[in-house]
Order: sequence, then structure tokens, then C-alpha cells
Amino acid sequence: MLCLHYLIINFLRLADELIANAAYIGTPGKGILAADESTGTMGKRLSSINVENVESNRQAFRELLFTTPGALQHLSGVILFEETLYQKTSDGKPFVELLKENGVLPGIKVDKGVVELPGTNGETTTQGLDDLGKRCQQYYAAGCRFAKWRAVLKIGVTEPSQLAINENANGLARYAIICQENGLVPIVEPEILVDGNHSIDKCADATERVLAAVYKALNDHHVLLEGTLLKPNMVTPGSDAPKVAPEVVAEYTVRALQRTMPAAVPAVVFLSGGQSEEEATLNLNAMNKLNTKKPWTLTFSFGRALQASTLKAWLGKAENVEKAKAVFLQRCKANSEATLGTYKGSGSLSEGASESLHVKDYKY
Ligand code: 13P
Repeated sequence: MLCLHYLIINFLRLADELIANAAYIGTPGKGILAADESTGTMGKRLSSINVENVESNRQAFRELLFTTPGALQHLSGVILFEETLYQKTSDGKPFVELLKENGVLPGIKVDKGVVELPGTNGETTTQGLDDLGKRCQQYYAAGCRFAKWRAVLKIGVTEPSQLAINENANGLARYAIICQENGLVPIVEPEILVDGNHSIDKCADATERVLAAVYKALNDHHVLLEGTLLKPNMVTPGSDAPKVAPEVVAEYTVRALQRTMPAAVPAVVFLSGGQSEEEATLNLNAMNKLNTKKPWTLTFSFGRALQASTLKAWLGKAENVEKAKAVFLQRCKANSEATLGTYKGSGSLSEGASESLHVKDYKY
């Protein structure tokens, strides 16, 4: 009894902070930069511009992003990979300090990637629960206030299977409560991959089934919903099917959320999932323009759709840094406007902003 009592009091102390931080991340006009590519994923990004995957180059690109004048005002959070959490700018300021001074909460990727679920058609579950509490304590002490865990589902003839849905919903719920016990707001990310030639209706059906199971599991595990965020895929046709207009994506996506997502959750922070930069921004903008019930903020937590054209403008060369910063600022501003439904589209598209960023069976 004593132990339970202690836990509850401790949790109540943390609850106010979790609720405040989750609400802050959902501030209209702001969103999240997902810069938490693992070293391997960053290697693929850097090799696409012929830059070597060494720590100094990874640091240089992240410094370029975080020191872009005017960019951080459009962000409420940045998700980091562990290596980046402890890095500094070239003049010695810890990245975490730089972010905090500019009103941006540092976050951390805490999952350890996916492994296949035996007996399924290549479906997966996410690893990383074993020492999660200890790691969360360390990340909180280092300045992090939220975390990300990516569960991956796919659409096929019989997928997502009930096994994969149950397993991933339960894993997300275990992760979420462990984060909250240690003061980190959990971003709950059940990503349904866009791979395939399925219709938007099929994606809506899968998204609704998955989100319903996720919220059941979060409730079963006593997760404080007000201190969480949801990071879902947008509801779209498969990558090999014809595209639909942003207004259609908006209507399907918001309807799927209305049907499954409690109003207690303060914000939805969408992933871009291989959409082009411009497509992701226009879809988010259309959702925020939609005149219907939306009890949560709808914002972004984009990785590829915030960084791809900046990376191309940079090419790893010091002389391109200013140009690349201008491109990054443009994307941050565009997505900030999209959270308010005021984005007018990009007249002068920076190079590559309309290029698809889809990679089959994407590993983050
Ligand atoms: P994308 O926006 O590139 O899909 O990545 C977001 C993310 O953090 C996936 O976990």
C-alpha cells in the first residue's frame, strides 16, 4: 500500500509537467523537427549527397538546422538521436541549451528499431523496452522532455494482422507509461506504411483499426492521455496508387481521428512518411482549413519533409550553408502556416520540394 501511495503522489507531481509540456508542443503555429535519424539512417542521407557518414558531418548538418536564424520560432520540439543529444555547436554551446533558450523542447528517440514477428507476412514489432526506464531517467537529466517510439504496420491483403495490431498497441502503451513515470511526454507513433497500391478507403480502415487498438491499450495501461501526443500517418492512397487532392486526404484523415482519438490528447503531430515536402505541407494545411470538429491541434513532426531540400542545398560544403539555411527556414515557415491553415503554396519551390521522398519499407 505504502509503495502504491508513493507512486501515485510521485506521478501526480509529474502529471502537471507532462500535461504542460504536451500542450506546449501542440502550440498552434509550431511543430516538431524530427532530426532523430539513427547513425545508419543518417549515413543513407549523407551518402545521397556524397558526404561521408562520420560524427563531424552529422554534427555539421544538425548545427546547420538548429542555428538557422528564425527557424526555431516555428518549432516547439526537436527529436534527437542519442549522439546528437550530447553534441555542441562549433563554438561550444550544447545543442540542448541552444534549443531550450529558443523555446524548443529537446526530445529523444528511445526505440531500438523493429524485428520481424514470426508467423506473419513480414510484419514487425518494436524493440527497446528492457532498460527503457533507466534510459528515460538519463535523458530527462540531460534535458529531454519528450520521447518518440516508432511502431510500424503495413497494409496488405490480410495486413495489418490482429497479431501485429495487438502487439504494437501493447508495446506503445508500455513505452508510454514508462516515459511518463520518468517525466517524458511520450509521442505515440503507430506508423502505417504507405507502401502498396491500396485505396485511400483501405488506408482509412487500417488507420481506424490501429488507432482504436492503441487507445484501448493506452487506457488499459493507465497512461495519462493529456500528457501524450499522437504521431500518425496521414490517410492517403498507397504509394503505387493514383494520388488524391489535399482536401480529400484532409477529410479522410480528420474523420479517422474523430472516430478513434480521445479529445483528452492535446495534439496530433503527423509524420510525413515519404510524401514530398510540398505535399505534406499542403495536406496539413488542408486539414487545418477543414471546417469540422477538431478538439486537438493538428501539426507536424516531419523528418524527410523538413530536411530533404536543405540537405540537397548543403551538399556538405561550407560555402552552401547560408543557402541551405534559407531553404530550411522556408520549409519551417511553410509548415508553421499549415498548422494555422494559412499556407498559400510555394510559388518559388526550392529545388526538390515537390519530389517524392518515398523509400520502400522505410527504416528510421
Ligand atoms: P518522416 O517525416 O520522414 O516520415 O519521419 C518522421 C519520423 O520521425 C518517423 O519516425
